[in-house]
Amino acid sequence: MVANHVDNLYNLLSFVKKSNMEDYLKEFHTLVKVHRFAEGYAQDITSGSFFGFPLQTVVETERKLLAKETPSVAYFSMEYGLATSFYNSFHSDKPVSESNNLPKQNIFSNMRIRDYYFGFQIDSKIIDLPIYSGGLGVLAGDTLKSSADLKVSLTGIGILWRKGYFKQNFWFKDGQVPEELNWDPYTYPGLVPLDTIIKLRLKDQDLHLRLWKYYIYSSDKGHAVPLILLDSNLEENKQESRRLTDQLYRSDNAYIKIMQRLILGAGGVKALEALGYSIDRYHLNEGHAAMALVEKAGELGKDELKSIGNNFIYTCHTPVAAGHDRFPIKELGKILPDKNLEFIRDNGLENGDTANFTVLLMNLCKHVNAVAKKHGEVTRLQFPQYAGKIQSITNGVHIPTWISKDIDSVLQKYGVKTGVCFEDEGPKKLEALRANEQFRLDLWNAHQANKRQLKSIFENWGIKEDVFTLCWARRIAGYKRPSLIFKDPHRLVEIAKKTGPIQLFIAGKAHPNDSLVGTFINEIMNTIDALGSQSSVLRIVMLENYDIFFGKLLTNSVDVWLNNPLPPFEASGTSGMKAILNGVPQLSTLDGWVVEAADAGIGEIFGYRHKSGEPIGNELDLRLESDSAELYNSLEKLVKLYYETDEKGKININSKWIDLMINCLIQGHYFNTCRMVREYHDRMWFDKG
Ligand SMILES: *Cc1c(COP(=O)(O)O)cnc(C)c1O
Repeated sequence: MVANHVDNLYNLLSFVKKSNMEDYLKEFHTLVKVHRFAEGYAQDITSGSFFGFPLQTVVETERKLLAKETPSVAYFSMEYGLATSFYNSFHSDKPVSESNNLPKQNIFSNMRIRDYYFGFQIDSKIIDLPIYSGGLGVLAGDTLKSSADLKVSLTGIGILWRKGYFKQNFWFKDGQVPEELNWDPYTYPGLVPLDTIIKLRLKDQDLHLRLWKYYIYSSDKGHAVPLILLDSNLEENKQESRRLTDQLYRSDNAYIKIMQRLILGAGGVKALEALGYSIDRYHLNEGHAAMALVEKAGELGKDELKSIGNNFIYTCHTPVAAGHDRFPIKELGKILPDKNLEFIRDNGLENGDTANFTVLLMNLCKHVNAVAKKHGEVTRLQFPQYAGKIQSITNGVHIPTWISKDIDSVLQKYGVKTGVCFEDEGPKKLEALRANEQFRLDLWNAHQANKRQLKSIFENWGIKEDVFTLCWARRIAGYKRPSLIFKDPHRLVEIAKKTGPIQLFIAGKAHPNDSLVGTFINEIMNTIDALGSQSSVLRIVMLENYDIFFGKLLTNSVDVWLNNPLPPFEASGTSGMKAILNGVPQLSTLDGWVVEAADAGIGEIFGYRHKSGEPIGNELDLRLESDSAELYNSLEKLVKLYYETDEKGKININSKWIDLMINCLIQGHYFNTCRMVREYHDRMWFDKG
């Protein structure tokens, strides 16, 4: 009898639960109009599930963005770095197109014979959502993740780059050969096209844009933020216009660049309206998104126009000149309605005939910020007329994405909570653990476990777990000085012979139109090739198609992270933050985020220093000679210290190396996007007054 009752009750409960779930699907359909749902998405979006994640979360997220009473933020960025392969791993019952799988990876090493025989492929690994080029995109992705973790009502806005950035191929003597990347958005798990199509009325045409959606879930899957992606590849558009959203940052043509900025900014504003989202704040990243403000201004009357900037936040991400958008008024005039052109003329004019989007946004936005303290100082030097307004909020990285399982387990074991936000007590607890020998051993072993992963992937290149390993990996840009470590190969070999063997990993894409950095890659390959005879003490492995998967692998498995930008041109940099979060020490110049951590004993700091208040200098004067000499000296110290961890084949637990690792972990408490999003939230998005 009792059992029967329980059964009945159970049936009743599951009926209630089931009908609730069906309601979610019904409500999902009213909130999110998926294009060709029945043909393409019905098996992946069901009563309880959105590509294997809770559908309820999507529905609740949409409700909040629609509600007038919930304050919401729209976050604009040209690029987003999101890797489904290890965070938000959506599941699809539909076969994924082969073009969405990671291609075979080639290696260029100083063991060339091996490169010809071996390549490798990570099993069934899906490519990152190919809509980013580097750090700016990865930061935007991490920002969305932490916003979801912190339950902020926010939506991202970006562009669905149909041909991604590019696929990189290395050819000896030719350097980097870029290839078009073709991927299939229709079978990319978690990505859905909407029926919603918006229209931009321009002087020369009506431009139609389809909206796509992708959801970034919080770590616990209970919250999410949508990412709206705009796509011009529609039959309604002229042939040339269909290709506007093909490739990220690939055009030198002013017309195409302006059109892409219009799509992001003006298209973004129109997309938010079409979806009915109630947005209170517009956060524009780089001048790329300036057209959002221009579009909004076009909708307002003269009186409202005065206070338009109050709802806008502008984040400047670089001191490098090429990062600031400038367009001839004449070119803008061919495309923009007169009203918008006039607004730009009134607020963002430079030298009479050029529009400068940085100036426009600094002029109008209530909040303007740089991305590290040092960068704030540099930005105030570059734009003295806005110095009083320019704040800084230091970048971060998303902890659950970038911390390795092994390091996190050790922290958990000793009661240091990382989770989505590194606990405030973390640094104190870690300081107290410094004297704990078992903790020191566990920490070392966790790093060794990570290193074995690296070893297993690069087994064919003879990578070992007990050899000092260094890595330089990021976008190959001039000011980042990828070839600094190769300036004097003899010295490098000398260190390896005298102090101990070295393994060196290099990875990164160069912008295909930048011929100067193209020559860096050639130079590096030539040097690597010439070091073939030294591979018994110095193994150099250069990896194609650096992405978030390899970013994670390398930042947690090497012994030292090399970061050598020319000060003061690195606004922040984030890859080193991923390394410290895993207890990996730095070999770095004093620039970007490192300025704020340099006194904390996170490794060796070397090279030219930019002094406060001095002119920022020439980004082409790379100071390779003097800085590489210092680099080698600092490297030598680290290699020496590393090999002192060895005590007759065992780890010396009291080694200073482990103190370095602990110092790094302590800094992880600050350099993360939980802290960063909280700062944006309190100081810019929802500031009082
Ligand atoms: C973190 C990351 C970057 C940024 O590296 P920086 O050192 O900050 O320039 C670039 N690309 C990928 C794939 C990353 O994961």
